[in-house]
Amino acid sequence: MKAWEENIRKVVPYVPGEQPQKAGIIKLNTNENPYPPSEAVERAWKDMEIEKLRLYPDPQAKLLVNALAKNYGLMPEQIFVGVGSDDVLAMSFLTFFNSKKPILFPDITYSFYDVWADLFRIPYKKMKLDENFHIKKEDYYQENGGIIFPNPNAPTGVEEEQEILEDILKKNSDVIVIIDEAYVDFGAKSARTLLEKYENLLVVQTFSKSRSMAGIRIGYAMGHSKLIKALQDVKYSYNSYTMNMPSILLGTKAIEEKEYFEMTIEKIIQTREKSKKELKKLGFSFPDSKANFIFATHEKYRAKDIFLYLKSKDIYVRYFPLERIDNYLRITIGTEEQMEALFHALYEFQKERE
Ligand code: PMP
Repeated sequence: MKAWEENIRKVVPYVPGEQPQKAGIIKLNTNENPYPPSEAVERAWKDMEIEKLRLYPDPQAKLLVNALAKNYGLMPEQIFVGVGSDDVLAMSFLTFFNSKKPILFPDITYSFYDVWADLFRIPYKKMKLDENFHIKKEDYYQENGGIIFPNPNAPTGVEEEQEILEDILKKNSDVIVIIDEAYVDFGAKSARTLLEKYENLLVVQTFSKSRSMAGIRIGYAMGHSKLIKALQDVKYSYNSYTMNMPSILLGTKAIEEKEYFEMTIEKIIQTREKSKKELKKLGFSFPDSKANFIFATHEKYRAKDIFLYLKSKDIYVRYFPLERIDNYLRITIGTEEQMEALFHALYEFQKERE
């Protein structure tokens, strides 16, 4: 090893879901929305003035921050925006998790948390979910340097009740508790309403799932103005212009389009509920999902074999070769037609093996 190699930061990176560039595939592997952004967003995209790209964007992204504040009945000082919720979450780890005590998160959860913790050298402890993939609230009564978990959880889709969230917030008033609500819009209850009561709470959401805009990269945090100020100070110590001009404009447009947002969500929820019935008929079981995906295991066939068979048919779902969940598939809810194609392939898979 060369001397300079010793000083290179060693990290094991997060592995994002595959983004195959082939046409005609059915892509149910990264929890994207199967419906496009609204027509108003499309118009704004087409009307964008290329000449404006000469200039730096507004470092405060005021247009977008104000639209989000108005939408949620918060003050602009309570909103922080970033390049997808990954950016907002990474910035939050850097800002709030600076204790020598370990931060806590579930053993089965978004697999970026331990990557950020390692990158920023934050000690952490993974708390084992119960056999139904629920949080055991007592696990979060111990001393810690902060807490983070998604609600609904990923990749399980399981929602925790507000009493559990409140209990954890009350028992941890000395640290920041981050609730990652990437999937909350698909029928779960947001912790946003708890912000007035708990100044140690930070709620993080994204435009990538319910708002059909994974490609534009917008995420945001909502919390006490003191927390938001702390996030901004860290951001301005790192990169002032995280939000580009098209994101600010199109994100603002998307937030103003409430009706379309609600309509696509309703369609996805309906398809999800129908898919639960179909998957049961095909011999799958799964924890009840409140997200835009179902985390399913089969009574007879191995998840990996099903995953590979589907891939050979150009249907992509997500398989995690990780402890406790390596016999599960995470299936994103697509359009009705895409789900029909999936069920057909699953039926064929079983027929070939009978
Ligand atoms: N949190 C969770 C739980 C997720 O599953 C994802 C999607 N990979 C994200 C955050 C990040 O999403 P984005 O950066 O697209 O907002």
